[in-house]
Amino acid sequence: MLDKLKSSFHGTPPNGDPSRRKFHFSFWYFLMALLIFSLIQDYIVARKTDVIPYSEFKHYVIEDKVKNLLLKQDEITGVLTEDSKARKDQPFVTVRVDDPELVKLLDTKKISYTGYYESKWLATLFSWILPLVFFILIWRFLMGRMGGGPQGVLSVGKARAKIYAEREVGITFEDVAGIDEAKQELEEIVEFLKTPEKFTQLGGKIPKGVLLVGAPGTGKTLLAKAVAGESGVTFFSMSGSDFVEMFVGVGAARVRDLFSQAKENAPCIIFVDELDALGKARGLGVMGGHDEREQTLNQLLVEMDGFDPNVGVIIMAATNRPEILDPALLRPGRFDRHVAIDRPDVSGREAILKLHSKEVKLAKDVDIAKVAALTPGFVGADLANLVNEAALLTARRDKKSVGMAEFQEAIDRIIGGLEKKNRVMNEKEKRIVAYHESGHALVAMSAPTADPVNKVSIIPRGIAALGYTQQLPTEDRYLMTREELLDRLSVLLGGRVAEELIFGDISTGAQNDLQRATDIARSMVTEYGMSEKLGLVTYAKERRPLFLDTGFSPAKEYSDGTAREIDSEVSRLLDEAHDLVRKILTEKKQQLEVIAQKLLEQETILGDELKDLIEKSSASA
Ligand code: ADP
Ligand code: ZN
Repeated sequence: MLDKLKSSFHGTPPNGDPSRRKFHFSFWYFLMALLIFSLIQDYIVARKTDVIPYSEFKHYVIEDKVKNLLLKQDEITGVLTEDSKARKDQPFVTVRVDDPELVKLLDTKKISYTGYYESKWLATLFSWILPLVFFILIWRFLMGRMGGGPQGVLSVGKARAKIYAEREVGITFEDVAGIDEAKQELEEIVEFLKTPEKFTQLGGKIPKGVLLVGAPGTGKTLLAKAVAGESGVTFFSMSGSDFVEMFVGVGAARVRDLFSQAKENAPCIIFVDELDALGKARGLGVMGGHDEREQTLNQLLVEMDGFDPNVGVIIMAATNRPEILDPALLRPGRFDRHVAIDRPDVSGREAILKLHSKEVKLAKDVDIAKVAALTPGFVGADLANLVNEAALLTARRDKKSVGMAEFQEAIDRIIGGLEKKNRVMNEKEKRIVAYHESGHALVAMSAPTADPVNKVSIIPRGIAALGYTQQLPTEDRYLMTREELLDRLSVLLGGRVAEELIFGDISTGAQNDLQRATDIARSMVTEYGMSEKLGLVTYAKERRPLFLDTGFSPAKEYSDGTAREIDSEVSRLLDEAHDLVRKILTEKKQQLEVIAQKLLEQETILGDELKDLIEKSSASA
């Protein structure tokens, strides 16, 4: 995603590459200058100084025509007071030969001479300092490549930081389709960024951090940009993986840099893509920890805590794995607002397809609704890709407009790719999931104390769930009665019982439901004293967080006999709930069918619609 940003980038350029080029240039300039300098020097020296044979020199000495003699190790320089061509004060040089008589001769002629101590600085320079400088330059160049930047360690944070700032994003909510719920949730943020005064005057609290949770390609980046575009603020973006560098401290410096830039440009949005790359729970690293990542994460937490949201900086982050994030990131005052972005359902896909095919010429036979129906499991990015593929196929076939055949072929191609990633369900699986979820929903709607259903869906969500039934509690609960717990058990079993009734067979899809049902039943028996047989004694130890489980189970404080009794009570509770649910669903099989059919057709059903469906079908039965 960030690569795409590069091309549409309007703000300050990333300052890494150009400066590296400059460094390169100046190095060559330096070499050139050195060469020219030595040439000039040679020329001047050569012109001024006569080179004369030693014999001639000796001759001049005898004639007393030399002065300012300098005796070097292997040459003699001096000035001729008068030479054969009658020039005055002509500098000369001659090669020194082994002539012990020379000094005696000079003494007798009373010509002044000095020995010469040849300083070794030039030799040292060439044999030591130059290579050293050269190595340092190479080292810094490599450091720059690895992330430090050519400016060196001191300004490491600024160098090459992939911070992209866009002043006019040019994307609005109109460019985002099919994820209306998420859009609605972000409307408030837009309001705030547009008129922060309105909120601050009322003393309203604005979230600092918004976490967008959804599968890759569902439009998280797009949505964040749309928020910036709608509110007309600068959009800073950076990928979580860019923060994690080889050198300790670099990432933290980048975080600091990002926030200080953002604060200067407030109001604005900071968008951190792939938050999980940087925000993985601390201490869960493969090799016992990752210093650099921890430092960076800590810096992010510090920065988030340290600024006043009223300055108008909102941090948005995207992840598709919220469960591995460090809990500290999700605490109040940090990323406490979560916006789920689901894969789009049929009507969502239709909207996205329409949006992306706006600029494409469609043939008359193209039915976008049908294309949407043929693409379950596709996310926004897949659909954009689909339209593009279909258009490319059309061009290759020299056709004037994109027809259904091209769409069909493009779908087949993309599904081929998605199947490898396990992202499309076959028809049979889809039917099973539809009945399973209908079972949950119907039981939830029939059980007297169960929370009303908000949404049923057979669109896969998260890693494991193939579909989901979402219940919304009508009020906050601190206590639950025995009856409520039993109803909860029933709802959990509803999915599996529906599968039994319709297919006469059961799938592995209910595993998580059964796990949770068993947990509830066991808690009822061992913690809440809700079993007549075992009475009021509690048997459970304090629960530990799952990931801290060291593999040692706490010592049992009850006998094996009691353990057996607990197990039998738990399974009795589950069996009773199972029978009850089976009875309910057998009676309401007609309604189950209706809900499942509707689910297969439109993939999601919202609460009100579900209520209508149930009422209508029970009236007709
Ligand atoms: P994410 O950040 O969730 O991985 P992106 O925002 O990068 O997904 O989406 C990639 C592209 O897919 C977008 O640029 C857009 O063209 C398309 N796209 C994704 N979701 C939608 C959507 N809801 N509406 C329109 N286009 C979408
Ligand atoms: Zn289920």
